[in-house]
Amino acid sequence: MNSPPITQASKRGRVFFVGAGPGDPKLLTLRGAECLRRADVVIYDALVNERILDHARPDARRIRLGAGGQAPEMRQAEVCRRLVELAQQGLTVVRLKGGDPMVFARIADESARLADHGIAFELVPGITAALAAASYAGIAITQRGCAPAVGLVSAHAEPGDVATDAGETPLDHHALARFPGTLAYYMGTATAAVWTARLVRAGKPPDTPATIVHRCTFPDQVCVRCRLDEVAGRLDAADPASPAIVVVGPAAGLPPALAWFEQRPLFGQRVLVARPIDQAAAWADSLTELGAEVLIQPAIRIEDPPDWRPVDDALDRLADYDWLVFSSSNGVRFFLRRLFARGFDLRRLGRVRLAAVGPATADALAEYHLRTDVTPDEFRAESLASALAVGAAGQRFLSIRASRGREVLADQLRSAGAVVDQIVAYSSIDVAVADAPVKRRLAAGEIHWATVTSSAIARSLAALFGEDLRKVRLASISPITSATLRALGYEPAVEARVYTTTGLLEAILEVAAGPVSRPSLDGSLPPLPTHGPSD
Ligand code: SAH
Repeated sequence: MNSPPITQASKRGRVFFVGAGPGDPKLLTLRGAECLRRADVVIYDALVNERILDHARPDARRIRLGAGGQAPEMRQAEVCRRLVELAQQGLTVVRLKGGDPMVFARIADESARLADHGIAFELVPGITAALAAASYAGIAITQRGCAPAVGLVSAHAEPGDVATDAGETPLDHHALARFPGTLAYYMGTATAAVWTARLVRAGKPPDTPATIVHRCTFPDQVCVRCRLDEVAGRLDAADPASPAIVVVGPAAGLPPALAWFEQRPLFGQRVLVARPIDQAAAWADSLTELGAEVLIQPAIRIEDPPDWRPVDDALDRLADYDWLVFSSSNGVRFFLRRLFARGFDLRRLGRVRLAAVGPATADALAEYHLRTDVTPDEFRAESLASALAVGAAGQRFLSIRASRGREVLADQLRSAGAVVDQIVAYSSIDVAVADAPVKRRLAAGEIHWATVTSSAIARSLAALFGEDLRKVRLASISPITSATLRALGYEPAVEARVYTTTGLLEAILEVAAGPVSRPSLDGSLPPLPTHGPSD
């Protein structure tokens, strides 16, 4: 092919065909993420997990295919036309495909059209469903001694193929029956009765081991281990819209010693996380890593305070205070962001001492390279007040808090003889309406847990879901949050012993998984040696 000169190519834009991987958005390649960040337009198939699009810029155009009900051939021609058109406008286009773009994805037609028009393109591989299914179901598809080869098989006719009556690819079943190793069937759900019967008729033993892997890498992955002649029956019961790979061959029958994915302690548990969105992500990651399917429904929103003046006044008079007391990580972030927005830097804090209610708040300070002078033994306002009360007489405290919150800290410090000013550094506002899918799943009893990480969240959840909130197990972060839940008429199923999100995770694990050997909760891996053997 004659490549156009670079300047011309860049003026014409370019197209990246990116493999999105099998489903879990974290299985995208780094190159794929990089291309998405650069994209002006992303054209993606209906099956692609939309969370992968989070890598794209918010202003990138997103075009979802396959929802219009057009015939596939029409869609293909239309996609080719649009790719050319967009690239000719000088745009960077990502054509996002499920799995790998070169495996049963008809990318050749699209890339050929681009080549015809001299448009530069790149193919970025992705993890194809068969290989992901092997890893996530624990099937050693190239097991030494029994599976020296692997075949990727399409069980569905492609446009242009001479299809059989059943809409099946014209496969050479005799060759496949003799295939020495593992066969992975794609798109084989609807036609399973036909292709499995033909394979058996061609000589494949009916008791050849098979494993059906539905929705591999998703938190609701399902694996069915059976015989080849049972595959169609087992697939009948499945949702035809749910993608499945069927692995056939001796490797599929080996003991499932490698089946790590479904053995994680929270596998199969659906957990509602009700924290504000920017605090939900890390917490959701810990739950996901333990196997849970996480649904995020913020119950409160965190916003600027209604009036910055009290914060600004306090920033102007910071030298008057002996202590700054933070009751939440949001307080830390909003207060310090305002400090920076006013043109100050950390030196503004001068000699003031810092107190944090708990480790998350202390961590938020640490993000700004600030160390706390006091963190209480128990992570609640009462304990912080007791820790600070010693020697508080005559000292001046500035307490930084939300638009709503408890008065305990200020009351206790004042009774210890301290002077306490309080300022509101952020607003905490109830979310008025729940997302429809979350509401529906909660009402249907499909959610197993809801994590309740503050009294404000407890009250907002009660308002959002009412009676339906009784259908989940409520996991409460502290006795105060539990008391709020009880006052609202809900009994928590578990309560954290240590009042942190890690403590809450421990409490859920004790009930959900029993006292089995568990992975480390802080996500830490064993330390790596710092020196290699040659050092
Ligand atoms: N290019 C894709 C394949 C597209 S064909 C790839 O490389 O994976 C679509 C078929 O892929 C589905 O019918 C199903 O057989 C398989 N598939 C895709 N995602 C899957 C998943 N998460 N779990 C199981 N099978 C999947």
